[in-house]
Amino acid sequence: MKTTILLVEDNADNQVIYGAILEHAGFVLVAAWDGEEGVRLARERMPDLILMDISLPKMDGLQATRILKADPATARIPIVALTAHAMAGDRARALDAGCDAYLTKPVEPKRVLEEVKRLIALSAVAQPS
Ligand code: MN
Repeated sequence: MKTTILLVEDNADNQVIYGAILEHAGFVLVAAWDGEEGVRLARERMPDLILMDISLPKMDGLQATRILKADPATARIPIVALTAHAMAGDRARALDAGCDAYLTKPVEPKRVLEEVKRLIALSAVAQPS
């Protein structure tokens, strides 16, 4: 079965760039454009990993992460925070909300792919099927 990645990102350029490299690597891509849609699509599609922008319309990525991590149905899905803010507190806030990893934008698409692969491999070890 193919590995599904949910990309929650309101920036069209980032959706295209990160989406393209993930699809090229063979992942099934699901795109959400705001935090509410991200939570809804996470529940509907049960992705193997979520790339979560922090600054999002309707509901920010921290709140969306808290909701998904508080729900036993989605709590085990690894979430990688994406933020444009290079402020020191943002990493702590993302991890405190339940994010499993953190990338600061601008981030090379190659680096995004590496981090996705690293966490998919980790979760495969943690949840043998
Ligand atoms: Mn954004």
